[in-house]
Formats: sequence, C-alpha cells, structure tokens
Amino acid sequence: MKFDRVYNFSAGPAMMPEPVLEEIAAEVLNYRGSGMSVMEMSHRSKVFQQIRDEAEADLRKLMNIPDNYKVLFIQGGGTVQFAMVAMNLMKNGVACYVETGAWSKKAINEAKKYGDVKIVASSKDKNFSYIPDCSDLDIPENADYVYICENETINGTTYYELPNTKGKVLVADQSSMFLSRPCDVSKYGLIWAGVQKNVGPAGMAVVIIREDLLRDDLPQSVPTYLNYKTHADADSLYNTPNCWAIYCCGKVFKYLLSNGGLEAIDRRNREKAAILYDFLDQSKFFSGAVEKKDRSLMNVPFVSPSKEQDAEVVAATKAAGFDNLKGHKSVGGLRASIYNAMPKEGVEALVEFLKQYEAEHA
Ligand SMILES: *Cc1c(COP(=O)(O)O)cnc(C)c1O
Repeated sequence: MKFDRVYNFSAGPAMMPEPVLEEIAAEVLNYRGSGMSVMEMSHRSKVFQQIRDEAEADLRKLMNIPDNYKVLFIQGGGTVQFAMVAMNLMKNGVACYVETGAWSKKAINEAKKYGDVKIVASSKDKNFSYIPDCSDLDIPENADYVYICENETINGTTYYELPNTKGKVLVADQSSMFLSRPCDVSKYGLIWAGVQKNVGPAGMAVVIIREDLLRDDLPQSVPTYLNYKTHADADSLYNTPNCWAIYCCGKVFKYLLSNGGLEAIDRRNREKAAILYDFLDQSKFFSGAVEKKDRSLMNVPFVSPSKEQDAEVVAATKAAGFDNLKGHKSVGGLRASIYNAMPKEGVEALVEFLKQYEAEHA
C-alpha cells in the first residue's frame, strides 16, 4: 500500500481501487484542460455530460444491461430507495418481502407505510445466519413485486440462487455486492445499489429499472423527485445530481472493464474470501457466524470466544494497521468487509495476524 494507507475493512464507505484514486487526484485541480475540478463544474456542461454518458455506457457494458432497462443515478443514498421502491411499484398495494437481516427489515418497515407487506420467508429463527429456501414461496396473485436484500451487509449472507417469484417482478437491493459478480439483469424488474459499499463515494444510488415499471399514474402525493420516471425522462439530470459520485463511479466502471469485467472480479473475490473462510473454518479461537452455503463474499462476520476478547482483537488489529473490523453494534463480534477494492494481500495479511493472535491467546 502506498501513502501509508491502511487496509480498511469498513462496511461502507469503503476502499476504492488505488489506481482510481490516483487518477482522481491527478485531475482534481484541472479536469482534462477544463480549468476546473469536477466538483466545480456545471452539471449542464458538455464536459460533465460526457462524464455522465460514459458512466452509463460503461455500466451497461459491464453488466450487459438490456436496452429495455433505464440506468438512473439518484441522490439520497440507499435509504431513499426503501421508500421509492414501494411508492413506485406498489400498484395494487401488496408486496412480498424476504426477511434476511438488518437491511431487509429496514426495507420492510418503510414499505409498510405504503401498502400491505407480506413476509414470504424469513431467517429470523436462526438470527439471520442463513438464506431461507425461496423455491416455492406463497406469493399472492395480486402481489406487485418480490423484494430481496441480495447481500446482507451486517449479517453476512448472500443469495446464490434467486427466489422463484412465480412470474412477479423481482426487486433487489444489491448495495453491498453490486458489481462483485456477474448478474443477469433480465431476471430483475429493478436493481438498486447505494454506491459507497462497492463502487464510489456515499450519497448516491444506482437504479436499474425495466422500462415498463416507470409510471405516469402515481398518486399526486408522491413527490416529483421520488418518481423514477422523473429521473428516467431527464437522464438523471432533473436537478443537480451528485456529479462527484457519478464521476468517481464512472472511473471504477472503467477500471473494472479494463481488468476483465465481472467474471474476473468474481474470480478474485472468491479467492480472496476463501483465504479468510478457510482460516475461520479451521480456527479453534475464531468462528464464522453464517451457514456455509450462504456466506457472503463481501462481508464476513466472525467472533472470538467472548465479547471481551472480541474487543481486544479489534483493538489489536487496529494497532496493526487493519481498520474498521468491529462488528455492527446490532450483532457485535467482528466483521471484515472485503469488497472489490480490498487487495488479496490485505486479506492474507489479516489472516496472518489473526493466526498469530490465536497462537498467543488461545
Ligand atoms: C449501506 C446499505 C444501505 C443503506 O445505504 P445508505 O446510503 O447509508 O442509506 C442499504 N442496503 C444495504 C444492503 C446496505 O449495505
């Protein structure tokens, strides 16, 4: 790592690829002869229009997004999407949610403000340590959509098989796994992701929505800004967008494309996560909290033999240059978030450290 940077295991905002940060640094005073930084630039300028257009085009290429889907860049981070999804897609006022942890619960609570929410599967019985069987869900005929959080950032689970929605629209929160592996967009009606986990700076969500789900007939009470169609019709330039985030995300899209795309990053992510999981599986001191078949490649929660020791391990890792390994306050323990930009060397170094720690404390 250059510039005395640490291995940052934060769940978000999280690490970005170093070559991308260097490019941004080189352009920060004068973006390509424009005489200004992207932070200072009109969102209606030709220069910015090109940044926006390339970001969308590159994301389309990266994910192979079909032509009948719109790509939107919307402010308000991830949390606004909990409400936007329900406001825009609850036509009949009925939606099905799979409850797998902290972030799906937030989505459920918000959706309840707008209609009837049916929890069609849950892993609450085992502390959200697995993904429930979603092959034969009881989905009502009039359900508007089926919603999942595809990677639970806090609980550390992920779907390796999408639910059988019985023909209903699938909606997925991909915030903490966006662009971490190949994704068949045509299986979804809507994908959204807050970008600060796996792509860029905080404050924006990418929304990929099938065109037929855009609506002219939303209730008058829905704010203009919260109608997806507002953003689709204006190419995400209805008002001043988060120009800086669009610019940074665009750079990460290009970086992924030039490094082999989603297949390549998936391979690297599998390798990387295996280093940590293999260690946890054989350790007599540390243990993982999630059922093997559903383990996230991005967020790895684990515990030591006691709460007191958890805190000691966190302090020791921090002192050794591994930052942000404290588990979320709702579940405790430790959590290593190892998104796309975490280098393999970072995980190897962490495992070496934990091995040593175990040898000295077990
Ligand atoms: C972080 C996160 C969110 C919320 O994002 P904010 O931008 O903080 O609102 C939503 N869903 C998941 C899965 C997340 O990891």
